Amino acid sequence: MNVYDSEVVLSILKKEGYDLCERLEDADLILVNTCSIRENAEQRVWGRLDRFLQEKKHRKVLVGVLGCMAERIKQDLLSHPAVDMVVGPDSYRELPTLVRALSEDAHNKQMEIALSMTETYADIEPVRMDKNGVTSFISIMRGCNNMCTYCIVPYVRGRERSRDPYTIVQEATSLYNAGYKEVNLLGQNVDSYLWKDPANPTKSVNFAQLLELVALVAPDLRVRFSTSHPKDMSNAVLYSMAMYPNICTHIHLPVQSGSDRMLEKMNRKYDSATYLERIDKIREIIPDAAITTDIIAGFCSETEEDHQATIELMKNVKFDSAFMFQYSQRPNTKAARHFEDDVPLETKTRRLNEIIELQSAISLERNKDCIGKIYEVLIEGTSKRDSDQLFGRTLGNKVCVFSAPGYKAGDYAKVKVESCTSATLIATLIE
Ligand code: SAH
Ligand code: SF4
Repeated sequence: MNVYDSEVVLSILKKEGYDLCERLEDADLILVNTCSIRENAEQRVWGRLDRFLQEKKHRKVLVGVLGCMAERIKQDLLSHPAVDMVVGPDSYRELPTLVRALSEDAHNKQMEIALSMTETYADIEPVRMDKNGVTSFISIMRGCNNMCTYCIVPYVRGRERSRDPYTIVQEATSLYNAGYKEVNLLGQNVDSYLWKDPANPTKSVNFAQLLELVALVAPDLRVRFSTSHPKDMSNAVLYSMAMYPNICTHIHLPVQSGSDRMLEKMNRKYDSATYLERIDKIREIIPDAAITTDIIAGFCSETEEDHQATIELMKNVKFDSAFMFQYSQRPNTKAARHFEDDVPLETKTRRLNEIIELQSAISLERNKDCIGKIYEVLIEGTSKRDSDQLFGRTLGNKVCVFSAPGYKAGDYAKVKVESCTSATLIATLIE
């Protein structure tokens, strides 16, 4: 999501004559786009600001902090001696004005942090910063209305709003025309995407319909999406996925915990039985679907029994892979205001390590199931480990490494999986 936002920012600033440079030393303007989801993400930004301060000591350069952290701690960031401006995620259109004001008077620090009910940057065609020219992101909505008790997102990204579907289709089409072969539709909860035509309120587009519209852009343009929410994921989305072969057979469905008590306390609005029912439905409608998840270890008051419930759910579902975190208290969230962050750090770390270890074994097992099977892979580039090998992804988002002389990034290849690790499929080319 932040990559996409940075691309929007670049697009806005390019019109002002700015362009990207490779080296910090060459920049006239340094912008850092920030994330507040966990404390360590913010710690890294403070480290960077200290580095920028060194840069400012020996030359004239402007520094701006953008994104969620800008929204969250505003004034504290502005007080840092390296920082000239602080701009929240809904104020990027103001950047040219803010930069111009700073160019006229560098001492006049600037801040713009209003959150919007309507801003989706729908009309801004982002300038792509990715290197491969094959896969790209498209933001389909902004903000979140869910208020999971541990989460800072609704506070720093504001209310949920869905972007005009026609601008989404237009963006996908222009990416395809520029040679891209995959678009990844992004939202905090894509299942609650709902666009109502302002000119005709009876006309609306939901996420299942949007998926179809994007899938129809071109049969060889793959469509991915994330993140799905277990309480909202509809069968209609699954049927759209089953109907269009270019919609990837991968669902990222964060469970967070296997304990009903924790899920309630997290305000996730589903229990483990409902979650498992959704998994069964996915596997019934899309038998070869890859399912991935997010898990938080050590949320407030989590007991050993709660932790074991997570372990059991993982064994039961057998996720293809997972992002796993230890709980990090975020200031002013409901959890920070009402619950005690009482699981000792060693316990959180130990539980997280157990979860990671188990998932790694399950990922290996899931990948072993792919051995002997044939997949169509979209090639993204050359393998980092061996420049004679290419890498790409299956429809289920599994990374596949293989040798294919004459093939290049953006090509599709049929491969047969010969072996695997927990993270990679190793394959040979069929055609
Ligand atoms: N909207 C998505 C996820 C957004 S944040 C969803 O609801 O699934 C990505 C992940 O970060 C979350 O799924 C959660 O696992 C993790 N996360 C969010 N807040 C966190 C916190 N305070 N501590 C640790 N992990 C957190
Ligand atoms: Fe955060 Fe929950 Fe919204 Fe995801 S759905 S962004 S976890 S509040």
